[in-house]
Amino acid sequence: MLRKFRALFFLVPAMVALAQQPPPSPSPSPAKPKPPPVPEQKTTVSSVHVDGPYIALTFDDGPNEKLTPRLLDLLAQHHIHATFFVIGENAAQYPEILQRAVREGHEIGNHTWSHPNLAKMSEENVRSQINRTEETITNAIGSGPTLFRPPYGSLTARQKHFIHDELGYEIILWEVDPLDWKRPGPNIVSSRILKETRPGSIVLSHDIHAQTIQAMPATFTELEAKGFKFVTVSELLKLRTPVPPPTPKPVNAPTATPSPVVAPSPNG
Ligand SMILES: [Zn+2]
Repeated sequence: MLRKFRALFFLVPAMVALAQQPPPSPSPSPAKPKPPPVPEQKTTVSSVHVDGPYIALTFDDGPNEKLTPRLLDLLAQHHIHATFFVIGENAAQYPEILQRAVREGHEIGNHTWSHPNLAKMSEENVRSQINRTEETITNAIGSGPTLFRPPYGSLTARQKHFIHDELGYEIILWEVDPLDWKRPGPNIVSSRILKETRPGSIVLSHDIHAQTIQAMPATFTELEAKGFKFVTVSELLKLRTPVPPPTPKPVNAPTATPSPVVAPSPNG
């Protein structure tokens, strides 16, 4: 008897649902949530989701003859590994600084030959900017870079695809930008980084400004005090964990969100 009743209990709602009538139960099961919209293929990375207090410090536009070795000394004192996005022209001039950086556990990324705004250039010139720098880095340290950062974060969608898909680079932007190139003073640089950095952050700075180097001892000490652990960008990418699923959206929510077309900051 009970069995029959239970069978009916399951059958009846199905039948009425088919007949498109309101279900008899006072608490109908909620409508099945729509699957999330398929995101546009992600070709750039500004931060990652990680289980742990991992961050990646990045320094752009060097190497600089005086400042980069000073920064390497500070990083060594703190046992911090960082990532340097170097300009090909500078790398060609100071290959020994790249060699030292790699010897001390840092990573070298490609930041173009002469720091142009790539979004305004032909594909041929963009390739030349990247390939020439890649060759210079490879000659200096014996292996090619796998990370690329566009100057000013500026790339067209088409360029993103060929740099990622054809040239095989991970395109690395940033999440934390202390605007150190405006030279606001070491304390401001430091406090901006400390305020914005969270687990998974990629932090942007430049090892060509004396103020930035002056800001680093306090910045490193404070980040350490907050419990952060420092890894290179490639290490951070390997530590990536899946982002937890978003909370279900209301049924009538729009399914398409416009993808941002602007660069994160006029910097890099
Ligand atoms: Zn730059």
